[in-house]
Amino acid sequence: VQPSSPKTSSTPTHLPYPDASLPVAQRVSRLMARMTLDEKLGQMVQGERQSAGMPEVTGALLGSVLSAGGSAPSPNTATGWADMYDGFQRAALSTRLGIPLMYGVDAVHGHNNVHGATIFPHNIGLGATRDPALAQRIGRAVAEEVAGTGIDWNFAPCVCVARNDRWGRTYESAGEKPELATNLARYVTGLQGAKLNAPGAVMGTAKHYLADGGTTGGDDRGNTQTSEAQLRAIHLPPYREAIKRGVGSIMISYSSWNGDRVHGHKYLITDVLKKELGYTGIVVSDFNGIEQIDNRPGLTGDEVRQAINAGIDLAMEGKTWQNFLDLLRAEVKAGRVPMARIDDANRRILTKKFELGLFEKPFTDRTFTPTVGNAAHRALAREAVRKSQVVLKNDGKVLPIAKTGKIFVAGKNANDIGNQSGGWTMEWHGRSGDITPGTTILEGIRETAGPGTTITYDANGAGIDRSYRVAIAVVGETPYAEGRGDRPQGMGLDEADLRTLNALRASGVPVVVVLVSGRPLDIAAHLPNWDGLVAAWLPGTEGGGVADVLFGDYAPTGKLPVTWMRSAAQQPINDGDGKPALFRYGFGLTYGVR
Ligand code: BGC
Repeated sequence: VQPSSPKTSSTPTHLPYPDASLPVAQRVSRLMARMTLDEKLGQMVQGERQSAGMPEVTGALLGSVLSAGGSAPSPNTATGWADMYDGFQRAALSTRLGIPLMYGVDAVHGHNNVHGATIFPHNIGLGATRDPALAQRIGRAVAEEVAGTGIDWNFAPCVCVARNDRWGRTYESAGEKPELATNLARYVTGLQGAKLNAPGAVMGTAKHYLADGGTTGGDDRGNTQTSEAQLRAIHLPPYREAIKRGVGSIMISYSSWNGDRVHGHKYLITDVLKKELGYTGIVVSDFNGIEQIDNRPGLTGDEVRQAINAGIDLAMEGKTWQNFLDLLRAEVKAGRVPMARIDDANRRILTKKFELGLFEKPFTDRTFTPTVGNAAHRALAREAVRKSQVVLKNDGKVLPIAKTGKIFVAGKNANDIGNQSGGWTMEWHGRSGDITPGTTILEGIRETAGPGTTITYDANGAGIDRSYRVAIAVVGETPYAEGRGDRPQGMGLDEADLRTLNALRASGVPVVVVLVSGRPLDIAAHLPNWDGLVAAWLPGTEGGGVADVLFGDYAPTGKLPVTWMRSAAQQPINDGDGKPALFRYGFGLTYGVR
């Protein structure tokens, strides 16, 4: 059966639950009454598309599939994705009960696995905007691009509260305070719309529950050693907000609380999240997170039992989904995982599938396909970029830069879409280079400065002389994701950046530094050499937003979402802990529009 576009149903009509006029709870019950144990277990596991293809979806009755970071179909276009999604959906619908599949992606700053999609600033930049309504508007735009490729489930927003900037996921956080992450939870409303089955809505995920950003040393997947009172005060509030906003799923953190892995934590998952907070959606594990419960390699029956009995409903298993299914079946048959738990998990998962309208409209709504990377979304991203810039230094009022004369631009991050987008862009860890269409910061500077200005660019600063009025150095970090970005050693600038900055400084021309980074860097020693400093975070594909601030087309409004250390040795440094900061939490200069 070929899906005719858009939105035609091919749910088999002989089945007992298609009656969309019935309340969802009744449809779920009718469906579950027909399901065998294997059909129920299949709903509880998610494979990665490279090892869980369409034959496996049909054969093993898999209820969902994901694309991990960078795992894209060929061609990697919006239509390529939609065709892939529809193929998976046909595979799911061809099973005995025809239960549609859910497909998850990490569209964490735009639909970032899809070539040509709009890439928005990472969350740290959204935290700097102090504009929760903007987060909601971005959520909606991302949902449209995701829906236009068929995908119905987004593993975003990350509502982590990053308490130690050495952590490689700091940029996925809106900042160091719970209120910033709580404001970011408005993103859920943008993603999910008024109702999950509204056109262009996709299911969101608040992640990673709980206290992923609180680990000792900022270690990714580490241990958050803290009292329950602190845990609740700092890390729980954004989940309350996301639940209030009806978030469809919550992902468990790889990290531990006081030495116990959250993936096996019944108190946190069942007692606090499900009972106390009244959460009725899906609890999903993180990628192969269950096999890390005992800190030894490999998935065991003990771990599967502990995770499911703790309250995990759906296991994100990558390649190991078959092993998980076999172990879970054995645990159920041995009576160590109660059927009531399997039924609770299925009820939660199937409820979302009905609420998403997948039984009525299983295929891609291609009316949204042209929204991928469209002008309106790029304009919104540029607005977000401009609002996320934090002006930290402006000696002699070097900013805003006048649109006349000669300007020198340098730095490895000036003309690199990959670098300015950071991790989770086309690949898990991101990549330097021309990885997807967009406007580099240099291109944004050229466009915004206009014809009255001469812009000269050299990445290393070669060729600068006194005839230039100002030099703009775009330096900072290069892409990384998760633990690969942990910086237990230094948090300073790299050698290439220091050489570039020295070359510019030697010319005697005033230097404005634009720092492209996922977090504050250790810059105090260099700051006296710089006339201006702008924290650009990881702006994404719309580099013009940086230029809007540099040239004063926009009066800066960004405020620091994190405390800026004086030295890396101060980590963790957070507002109110009494350590003397280089720039305090909430700091940000402004100037009038030029
Ligand atoms: C990350 C999650 C992500 C998952 C699926 C994991 O490594 O921790 O944030 O949703 O991969 O890609």
